[in-house]
Amino acid sequence: MLTNDDIVLLRKDFPILEEKIYGKPLIYFDNGATTQKPLQVLARIEYAYKHLNANIHRGVHYLSQKATEAHEDARSTVASFLGAAHREEIIFTRGTTEAINLVAFSFGEAFCNQGDEIVVSVMEHHSNIVPWQMLCERKGLTLRVIPMNEKGELDMQAYKSLLNSRTRLVSVTHVSNVLGTVNPVQEIIRLAHEQNIHVLIDGAQAVPHIKVDVKELDADFYVFSGHKIYGPTGIGVLYGKRELLDAIPPCQGGGEMIDKVTFEKTTYNILPFKFEAGTPDYIGSTALAEALRYVQAIGIERIAEYEHVLTRYATTRLLEIDGMHIIGTTENKSAVVSFLVGEIHPYDIGMLLDKMGIAVRTGHHCAQPLIDSLGITGTVRASFSFYNTTDEIDSFIAALKKVVLMLS
Ligand code: PMP
Repeated sequence: MLTNDDIVLLRKDFPILEEKIYGKPLIYFDNGATTQKPLQVLARIEYAYKHLNANIHRGVHYLSQKATEAHEDARSTVASFLGAAHREEIIFTRGTTEAINLVAFSFGEAFCNQGDEIVVSVMEHHSNIVPWQMLCERKGLTLRVIPMNEKGELDMQAYKSLLNSRTRLVSVTHVSNVLGTVNPVQEIIRLAHEQNIHVLIDGAQAVPHIKVDVKELDADFYVFSGHKIYGPTGIGVLYGKRELLDAIPPCQGGGEMIDKVTFEKTTYNILPFKFEAGTPDYIGSTALAEALRYVQAIGIERIAEYEHVLTRYATTRLLEIDGMHIIGTTENKSAVVSFLVGEIHPYDIGMLLDKMGIAVRTGHHCAQPLIDSLGITGTVRASFSFYNTTDEIDSFIAALKKVVLMLS
């Protein structure tokens, strides 16, 4: 496991952790929203702009070829990080949201017809709800929703009963950004595949925290965002099985996605270029690859183990506070703790913690249907990274106790 000495060293890679907020040391517990960036990633961005900047794929000149190589090497890095069978199964997108929208449009065009059904779960982020609602409206489909129990675990019996001959796709999150629940996605995929139903897994909250192998999961589509795994904003990944990506049309036109263009007809490029219209974010892709190498160098298993200890510690300490209500109490949780204290509004807690240098998130966390189903208006959410420490959790608990005293 990562030791305290390891964490001290790793923290030095993240200069922002030295910032003072209102004169207090920053305690950054908003990693579920976005992670901080290590020097290695920042250096990679600078290096790429200083030494490798030219538009990719089209140029015969040296710099363009080098930039193209870097972008394509980044694709290979992502493929091996996810355990994809083929590098062309990796499509760079702007993030999770764009990747899901791409599948909702393109898969929807190829495979969905009036009367068909899409299954999501009650704990989805809006990014894994709204694109499917748009598809439902566009093509006359119905959205079906897997419920959960009071611990925040998906109701697998109900899930099974939702699958039928009209179900075209199941799209669920690997890890809930509100509850921290790690869903049994392998089982979800297996059950869907028994009925020849395809599955998309939203890995936005999973890849930074747990080992993911898309081949082992047998996921048809798997998506994540670079900025949540120590990479830059504006870059993300759609993994799709080659035969499926081949079978669905592109959703944007222009740039490298073409094979031949005439005014009468355009034919499309092969994978992965078919889905990367316009100038790709080739600086972002190489910086994301650097972030993935950084995570791999630490070891995702070690990260998972350490973050598990942090999350358990935070949970135990939070429960010292009178009126504490932890939302999401399953055993199998990732590095997220959502809570409410008595009748205190989460926003008030977040505001006062901020004045003490502590960054947490408050509100509906872009999961309004989940929050509504819980009969609450929002939560306070602390979400951890390997660079967080138990000392920070102690400071957070001390601050929270003061806040609760002030607001009670
Ligand atoms: N899905 C989940 C589970 C998330 O937590 C998030 C980000 N909060 C998203 C999707 C959307 O990610 P992005 O904004 O990077 O596209």
